Amino acid sequence: MDVEGARSQYQLAEQCRACGIEVFDPDVSCITAAGGGPLHVPAPAARSSSRNLSVSNNSVRIDGERLWSRLMSMSEIGATPAGGCNRRALTDEDRAGRELLMSWCRDAGCEIRLDAIGNIFARRAGRNSKLPPVITGSHLDTQPTGGKFDGVFGVLAGLEVIETLNDHDIETDHPLEVVVWTNEEGCRFDTAMMGSAVWAGAMPIEAAYALADRDGRQVEQELVRIGHKGKIAARAGPVRAAFEAHIEQGPILESANKPIGIVTGVQHMSRHRIVIEGKETHAGPSPMETRKDPMMALADFLPKLYAMAERNRPHARLTIGYIHAIPGSSNTVPGQLELTVDIRHPEKTAYDGMIAGFREHVSSACEKRSTPVRMECFWEAPGVEFDGDCINAVRKAVETTGYDSMELYSGAGHDACNLSAVVPTSMIFIPCEGGLSHNESENAKPEHVEAGCNVLLHAIVVIDGI
Ligand SMILES: [Zn+2]
Repeated sequence: MDVEGARSQYQLAEQCRACGIEVFDPDVSCITAAGGGPLHVPAPAARSSSRNLSVSNNSVRIDGERLWSRLMSMSEIGATPAGGCNRRALTDEDRAGRELLMSWCRDAGCEIRLDAIGNIFARRAGRNSKLPPVITGSHLDTQPTGGKFDGVFGVLAGLEVIETLNDHDIETDHPLEVVVWTNEEGCRFDTAMMGSAVWAGAMPIEAAYALADRDGRQVEQELVRIGHKGKIAARAGPVRAAFEAHIEQGPILESANKPIGIVTGVQHMSRHRIVIEGKETHAGPSPMETRKDPMMALADFLPKLYAMAERNRPHARLTIGYIHAIPGSSNTVPGQLELTVDIRHPEKTAYDGMIAGFREHVSSACEKRSTPVRMECFWEAPGVEFDGDCINAVRKAVETTGYDSMELYSGAGHDACNLSAVVPTSMIFIPCEGGLSHNESENAKPEHVEAGCNVLLHAIVVIDGI
């Protein structure tokens, strides 16, 4: 795409009719009223940058205090009494959070654009405007009883990288963009990672627009109401690399005492329903050997499934979370048994092997007991292997900054999963207290927040120079 073509995709700000400050949709009332203070701030004059950040220059560090204070300021929007946040997607609180972020990005000299699904892109120019951008970000929306860090950390870490580059007068070759993906949580509108899915072409925009909350308000209507339905297409363009920094939302880094997780992918996962037919008979007179007892089939395959999980340690996950016997009487052999099995593994070969083994163990046990069985996979999310160059850039950044780290897979889905289908992508994790997330008590240590952002900065610098 030529520079003119790229330019014409941008929706540039116009003057707000109420306060005169640059906004995207002058027909939408000024946020000044909602926030209690002017959040629109005009963009400062363009920087004149000159220096290169050499990869070996490990003295450049982000400002941990500035990042922490921004995290705390953002957490005041939609703050809950128990110390968490409630900024569900496209509510007034989400809007206020998005506007606050945009005002900070404008202060940092970024050009901001909004796409048709409300994804925000704040761009710091690079030395060569013809190069595709390096993008980094996450989400600002939260669960109704969410925390201060899930998603927000990744967005504000991206902004902090830009501010650090500004402070040190460092110019990158590629433009750098901080991105806020709309409705990652999927709790108000029931599709998680919605904005990134539309952008990556995994979800038609019409389907996203039509999603409705419990009161029947639709995504498109709410985007228009808060003034964040942009005019540019929600579609992935060329991107050099995408990074998402995030809290781990699990206990692995904390228990290993590592401040940085180099995330190499997201595990494959699926859920299966098994229905085994038996024959109801009296618990007393029926000899064991003549029974068609689905529970005996279960007793046969259950240890084999756990042994299979054991053989695929340490990454395999096998969970039997539901077992239901019919008729559920203590002195009747069950006529039917229903159970669910959740299987996860980050490596495709091992995952496929576990699925095949699971089917084999269940069917042979049921055959032996003459209990017909039906198995269906009712949910599956394919795993993600992140991009090798991006992972290497994070490894190099860890080396440069000297933080202790470990490599791991993500147990949860993230916007980065959608991105990785269309652009080179990887993630950086930091620990969160007790592995707790989607909880008002969600917490991260300031030093870990700072470490994650320093690694993000240096990963971006590495990829910029490749
Ligand atoms: Zn998140």
